[in-house]
Amino acid sequence: GDALAVSARVAPLGSRLVLLLVEDLTEARRIEAVRRDFVANVSHELKTPVGALSLLSEAVMDASDDPEAVERFAGRMQNEATRLTSLVQELIDLSRVQNDDPLEDSEPVQVTELVGEALDRCRQSASNKQITLASGGTENLHVWGNRGQLAAALGNLVENAVNYSPARTRVGIAGRRIAAPGGDLVEIAVTDQGIGISAADKERIFERFYRVDPARSRDTGGTGLGLAIVKHVAASHGGEVTVWSAEGQGSTFTLRLPEAGNAREKAESGREGR
Ligand code: ADP
Repeated sequence: GDALAVSARVAPLGSRLVLLLVEDLTEARRIEAVRRDFVANVSHELKTPVGALSLLSEAVMDASDDPEAVERFAGRMQNEATRLTSLVQELIDLSRVQNDDPLEDSEPVQVTELVGEALDRCRQSASNKQITLASGGTENLHVWGNRGQLAAALGNLVENAVNYSPARTRVGIAGRRIAAPGGDLVEIAVTDQGIGISAADKERIFERFYRVDPARSRDTGGTGLGLAIVKHVAASHGGEVTVWSAEGQGSTFTLRLPEAGNAREKAESGREGR
C-alpha cells in the first residue's frame, strides 16, 4: 500500500488504441481486421485504469488510519475514474465512426440537439473546474448527416475545450448560417479561454495520436484520437473543421457543414442524374 509502488504500477494508457482508427474507411479488408482486433485492444486499454483503481482502493484500506494518505489516494482514484470515463466515450465515438455509413443513415439533424448532447457530456468535468458553458444561435439550424457521428464530433470539440482550459473560464458554442457559393453552410464554433495551441502544433493536432503534451492529455483520458475523429466526420459529411488559436489566450474550433436543405437537394439531384 505504499504510494510510490502504486504510482509505479499505474502504467500510462498505451497508444495501442491508435491502431484502431481506420486509415481509410473504404478499405473493407482493413475494417474487417480492425473489427477482429477491436475487442482484444479495448479490453487491454480498459484494464489499465481498472487495475489502478483496484490497487488504489487497497491502498486506501491499508491507510485507513492516515486521513491525509486516504485523501491523496482518493484523488488519484478520481483521476483514474475520469480517464476511464473518457476512454469509454472515445471508444463509443470510434465505433460510431467505424460502424455507421454516414451516407446511408443520413437525416436532418437539429443543431440545438447536437449542442445539447455535447454539453451534457461535459457538464460534470466543467462543473468540477467551475467552467461556464454557454451556447446560442443554433435555433432553426439543421445539418444533414449521421446523428451519432455528428454528436461525437461536436462532443469531442467541447470536451477538449473544457480539458485544455483553466478553472473559472468560459466555453462557448455559437451557431450560425452562412451563405456560400455551393449553397448555405452551418457553422458551429467552439471557443475556449484555455492554454491555446502554437502555430507548429496547429499543423499536427488533427493527426491520429498527436498530442501536444502527452502527460497532460493522459490525465484527462486523452488518446490523441479525438480531433482525428472530428476531421474524419467533417470530411465524410462534405464539411470541414478549422482552428484559430493564440497561445495562452484560447482557441476556437469551427465546424462547417452543409445546411440540411442544401445537402439534401444536392443528394437528390445527384440521384436523379444517375
Ligand atoms: P486528446 O485525446 O489528447 O485530447 P485530440 O485529438 O482531441 O486528443 O487533441 C489533440 C491535441 O490537441 C491534444 O492532446 C491537445 O494537445 C491539443 N488540443 C485539442 N483541443 C485543444 C484546445 N481546445 N485547446 C488547447 N489544445 C487543444
